[in-house]
Amino acid sequence: MIVRRATRQIAVGKVTIGGDSPISVQSMTNTDTRDVAQTVAQIHRLEAAGCEIVRVAVLDNEAAEAIRKIQEQITIPLIGDIHFDHRLAIAAMENGVDGIRINPGNLGGKEKIAQVVAAAKLHRVPIRVGVNSGSIEKDLLKTYGYPTAENTEALTESAMRNVRLLENHGFHEIKISIKSSDVLTTIHGYRKLSAITDYPLHLGVTEAGGLIAGTVKSSVALGILLGQGIGDTFRISLTRDPVEEVRVGFELLRSLKIRERGPELISCPTCGRTRIDLFGLAEEVERYVQTMVSPLKVAVMGCVVNGPGEARQADIGVAGGNGVGIIFKKGEIWKKVKEEELMEVFMAELKKMEEEGQKRQNSAKK
Ligand code: SF4
Repeated sequence: MIVRRATRQIAVGKVTIGGDSPISVQSMTNTDTRDVAQTVAQIHRLEAAGCEIVRVAVLDNEAAEAIRKIQEQITIPLIGDIHFDHRLAIAAMENGVDGIRINPGNLGGKEKIAQVVAAAKLHRVPIRVGVNSGSIEKDLLKTYGYPTAENTEALTESAMRNVRLLENHGFHEIKISIKSSDVLTTIHGYRKLSAITDYPLHLGVTEAGGLIAGTVKSSVALGILLGQGIGDTFRISLTRDPVEEVRVGFELLRSLKIRERGPELISCPTCGRTRIDLFGLAEEVERYVQTMVSPLKVAVMGCVVNGPGEARQADIGVAGGNGVGIIFKKGEIWKKVKEEELMEVFMAELKKMEEEGQKRQNSAKK
């Protein structure tokens, strides 16, 4: 069982982070924030995938003003990502952002930090102190050297120095991230940070890569940390549609039995026993499963000899035979159909079960 490290709790809009709050899944838009229609459309897709907090880049005043219009059309908390310009941080808060991500040390001095903190207090907005390996202060690099897996001092000290800049103004609505593109540096850095502070931690591997490399790097780093009870919220960074980040995020939580959302797809890798086009069937099922909300376990297996047994825990599954396929439920054969009808019959039954699941969920909410 995973024992979570005790952290303080903060609120980003309606979502709490830290303490006994569920570990939340975040993402970031890759649209031009000034383009309200495009940004809102992408956030709606992220919401549908289960994203719980979304971040947008605030590069200029027009982007800060767009936040108000974006907020009116979305339901999940919105975080403004700001670098260097304290006026943009203040403008984002005035326009209704639920949280900001800044690096206090690069805002240009004590007076500007004081103004940002005053605005954060006024608007009740928490601040994520986000430190990256590439943006560490020169004096810390000189003292401790560039962060590596063996030496994460510069990274953790930079984070805590930035935290102190906020604490000096009596501000404690803080979460912290220390990003590196290196998996081991990420793991060791967050472990160290969790030993020296009880602020909630936002996990992530930065510039992780495309779907495969990014998923592997993020899952290894975040999987190890979350498995040790470290981390209160996270973003999987992928050079892809951000919706994929959310899907990977929930699969990661599911694999550690931390949280479950929506259905689970089980599919076998196929082997010499497979006699049907399983990849085509699996792709079709996967596409549909991504739109499902009820927590069904769905299996797509290559053969009737081992498939139903190997996927005994599935609520519904399909297994290919020679010219025929079987549809099974909880390991028992439900129907045997010709191969050319298999997809249609299986998808119809799956959709029916999803509709029933949705009805059950809706009546449970009432
Ligand atoms: S379910 Fe059948 S086809 Fe798939 S890997 Fe197992 S034995 Fe092979």
